[in-house]
Amino acid sequence: MPATIISGVAVATAIRQEIAAEVAALKERHGLVPGLATILVGEDPASQSYVAAKNRTAHALGIHSEQITLPAATSEEELLRLVGQCNGNPAIHGILVQLPLPRHIDEAKVLFAIDPAKDVDGFHPVNAGKMMLGQRCFLPCTPNGIVELLLRAGIETAGAEVVVVGRSNIVGKPIANLLLQKRPGGDATVTVCHTRTRDMVAHTRRADILIVAAGVAKMIRADQIKEGAVVIDVGVNRIGQTASGKAILAGDVDFDDVLAKAGAITPVPGGVGPMTITMLMQNTLQAAKQAAGLL
Ligand code: NAP
Repeated sequence: MPATIISGVAVATAIRQEIAAEVAALKERHGLVPGLATILVGEDPASQSYVAAKNRTAHALGIHSEQITLPAATSEEELLRLVGQCNGNPAIHGILVQLPLPRHIDEAKVLFAIDPAKDVDGFHPVNAGKMMLGQRCFLPCTPNGIVELLLRAGIETAGAEVVVVGRSNIVGKPIANLLLQKRPGGDATVTVCHTRTRDMVAHTRRADILIVAAGVAKMIRADQIKEGAVVIDVGVNRIGQTASGKAILAGDVDFDDVLAKAGAITPVPGGVGPMTITMLMQNTLQAAKQAAGLL
């Protein structure tokens, strides 16, 4: 039997409806409109499309969004000044600096400059530390989206052997950490693989849940997974373009090859991606409520 396809679009749509209802209620009862500032430096087409999607979604959910677009030559000092302005702006509850930044700007320094109470991407060391300790904080959007997807798809993580391929600060490390937490959507036994892993396939083949975030198109094939495994494909790789210039995307998993063997699988596009944006909206709502003392 082919794998169940876990639709991130369907789950994200349901959560977005909940967020939109809460945003409307906040406005009606408290006159409060959550505000998100997105800061884009440079003209990377992928970043442009991600930021546009974030602003579109915010708008659709009733969240106020301000897109700030700066030229690639913007200095680090100028960017830090802008982040400081957003920190001090009461209409802005969440700040997102789209990564990657141009090479002359120190990314860590910029992320550190964001007020942790407005860090809706969850990348500030204060939030990363709280996440590790299992304390309430802004959780990073992609890992949080994966946990939410697993929970809403009814996939049991407690006691499961989870293998994560990739150890980035954005996806691999935080998803491994979240799955380890003592709470629903956690309690898993987690293994993390990377380019220095000696025998990656020995690990991926015993995974009940395999999460792949390597950035290598179609690297995981059927012979690398266990029969019935849940496969979460985080990868977004541009493998070409259509005649009209639209990017053709592929995940890190060879979807067609794995489909017959996996128990459940997320597609690319339409899997983890919509969840990432949805969690950003949820964090922005949380930030607004916290700022107003409603949480
Ligand atoms: P990244 O920073 O490039 O990290 C990739 C990780 O994968 C690294 O830890 C690397 O190991 C590991 N890796 C690469 N090739 C490998 C191989 N052949 N075998 C084992 N491990 C390997 O990437 P990222 O930011 O985590 O993103 C990963 C993918 O997810 C990308 O395709 C990205 O576009 C996508 N993504 C999607 C979303 C979404 O919302 N859907 C969000 C974020 C990222 P080393 O550490 O040893 O180099």
